[in-house]
Amino acid sequence: MCLHTIIAACYRRCLHAIYCITCAVALAMTGIGLMQPALANDVAGKGYQLRQIGDGVYFLSDTAYNTIFVVSDQGVIVVDPLPTLGKKYLQAIAEVTAQPVTHIIYSHEHLDHIGAASLFPAGAHIIAQAETKRSLDHLHDPRRPSPDISFEHAYRLEVGNQLLELAYTSPNHAPGNIFIHLPRQKILMLVDVIYPGYAPYPNLGVSTDIGGTIRINRQALDYDFQTFVGGHVGNTGNRADIETSLAFLTAVEVTARQVLAEKTFPDYLKTTGLAAAGESWFAHDDYEQERVNACYTRLLPVWEQRLKGLARSLKSHCWSMIVGLAISLPPGAATGDKAY
Ligand SMILES: [Zn+2]
Repeated sequence: MCLHTIIAACYRRCLHAIYCITCAVALAMTGIGLMQPALANDVAGKGYQLRQIGDGVYFLSDTAYNTIFVVSDQGVIVVDPLPTLGKKYLQAIAEVTAQPVTHIIYSHEHLDHIGAASLFPAGAHIIAQAETKRSLDHLHDPRRPSPDISFEHAYRLEVGNQLLELAYTSPNHAPGNIFIHLPRQKILMLVDVIYPGYAPYPNLGVSTDIGGTIRINRQALDYDFQTFVGGHVGNTGNRADIETSLAFLTAVEVTARQVLAEKTFPDYLKTTGLAAAGESWFAHDDYEQERVNACYTRLLPVWEQRLKGLARSLKSHCWSMIVGLAISLPPGAATGDKAY
């Protein structure tokens, strides 16, 4: 029985108080938390949950992938046409409005977030940052057509009575990954960087720029918002989730710097004898794994109660940070403490 079926079955029995309490305790223990009964049934039945989170703004989730769409009096603005939802995205829109989709915003170029774009009306404008456009122009992937509107740093999208402010600062999770801000509704969206309540996806959210990923957490805190949408984990977050994310990334960086400083690769080689045997290259893998284990052992007790699922992915985060320090991050204080 799949997890969604279990959740739905659990809540169907919520007519009796004792079952409700049992469900709540059981689901909290699984890390799923207290999903609203109607939403749990929606995921099991329709394949998605749909929840209004602001004036005309709808949170749409299959509990692994999230996005939003915005209903204006002159059309619907879709953010990230998720392939896990496919045409169900259009079904969700039809639940709340008969307005046509007039605009599609790509948060970034990754297929797992925008791979259903070709299922949406061909006349809709597609908007993305210029790096995303360059990549999609090169890929020629029919599932995610290139945008007809692109921007370098900022784009103000006004459709009828709705305003979305798009902004790009620097590469982070991916080149071209943008902020999507709705100032009137105090909603901020940034995909694949912050996972409210959870540890990041492995390898620091498969970040292509570790320094940029840390910095964009702090830049997110400069926005005026109350609700945060992160692209994954089935729930929205808030300012505290971003503060936790920044603190965690800073802790990983500080710890990785420590474990690398405590034992350098040349020091490690002296203890193995592999250099004399001409096998230094393989020894480098062993060295990294030893330092990863040291990083993991120090961080897990401090952070495993704060971020769900951390034990599953922490070694990958330590490894990505160690590699980031080896190949790109500047020396000195932790990136999260720097004022840029
Ligand atoms: Zn991505």
